[in-house]
Amino acid sequence: MSQDRLEPLSAAASPETAHDGAARRVSAVGGVSADEPLRPLAIERREPGARDVVIEIEYCGLCHSDVHMVRGEWREVEYPLVPGHEIVGRVSEVGADVTAFGIGDRVGVGCLVDSCRTCEACRDGLEQFCSGNEQGAGVGTYGSVDYRNGGGRTQGGYSQAIVVDADYVLRVPTSLDAASAAPLLCAGITTYAPLRRAGVGEGTRVGVVGLGGLGHMAVKLAKAMGASVTVFSRTDSKADDAGLLGADHFVVSSDPDAMAAARQSLDVVIDTVAAPHELDPYLATIARDGRLVQVGLPADPMPPVNPRILAAQRVSYTGSFIGGIAETQEMLDFCAEHGVSAQIEMIGADEINEAYERMVAGDVAYRFVLDIATLPEPESLEAGAGARLS
Ligand SMILES: [Zn+2]
Ligand SMILES: [Zn+2]
Repeated sequence: MSQDRLEPLSAAASPETAHDGAARRVSAVGGVSADEPLRPLAIERREPGARDVVIEIEYCGLCHSDVHMVRGEWREVEYPLVPGHEIVGRVSEVGADVTAFGIGDRVGVGCLVDSCRTCEACRDGLEQFCSGNEQGAGVGTYGSVDYRNGGGRTQGGYSQAIVVDADYVLRVPTSLDAASAAPLLCAGITTYAPLRRAGVGEGTRVGVVGLGGLGHMAVKLAKAMGASVTVFSRTDSKADDAGLLGADHFVVSSDPDAMAAARQSLDVVIDTVAAPHELDPYLATIARDGRLVQVGLPADPMPPVNPRILAAQRVSYTGSFIGGIAETQEMLDFCAEHGVSAQIEMIGADEINEAYERMVAGDVAYRFVLDIATLPEPESLEAGAGARLS
């Protein structure tokens, strides 16, 4: 078991960064190959340019996509790879042209750190759909080519600091707890955006399939928007939790009678399950002109949908993918106004591999957050395997 865990880490961990000319070394936790456990690494962050913000990271949420990415399950990735795109911290430096942020501000970074800014999607404030220009396209927070900053690979938030263009930095209202706000940057916006797009408000009947990291946020956000919420889960083991999160109804999806009773009772269903599953039973719960929005993204195809179910009540089957920068800010402000944040379990750096196993097993209520103060000092670490790091 010991090789699945990180070596014990030294207790003294200040978020100070070490300056050494053109870049600064910070400590991080990341993967060095597809099949080895995560481990402490030292990475380099660029010196801030005129438009950049330096963020001393306090907390980073663990997203299921981190596991898929670092294990190379979605696509081939370059190592070392430091995951993490649910980042909350404090501004420690700003570039000369940055006016929106000052030192000490609490800020966040989600799934994007850059995009082309000129394509139709970027002009519409939908940077997550950036189609790019001659220079490049959208830049993910980790594992993407950072073409505007030397062409190295971006490295994510399981690290002491990050340097990000101010246009991609979010303000995190201080009324929100910093640690439980971190998952809003991915799980929050992923569920907020489709609820908003569907016009969810007072009295809308919302269904949520699966009560995990995404599902629990969908319940809280839909309730805060004034909806009545039905949770679908395979067993009744999460019925009490669903009620505590604010759900009005709970349906055991493996029970055909319970599913039949829910027929045509909902306006919007948010499907958060990231494994292939039959959709027809959920499509049948949707009333005329309603929609099922897929936000859980299985690696394998889903079973086919029966078009008759779609036609019979003009039901739409659609998807949604995170959100743009402006909408992510709107979501954070909405969460502050309504007191919404994630249910979290805080972990230290030495627990990260165990947390990954528990995420894969679905054993988390409902989001792990890494306490960045538990990372070791960069001086005690080897540089990350000679790769160019941005
Ligand atoms: Zn994510
Ligand atoms: Zn673009």
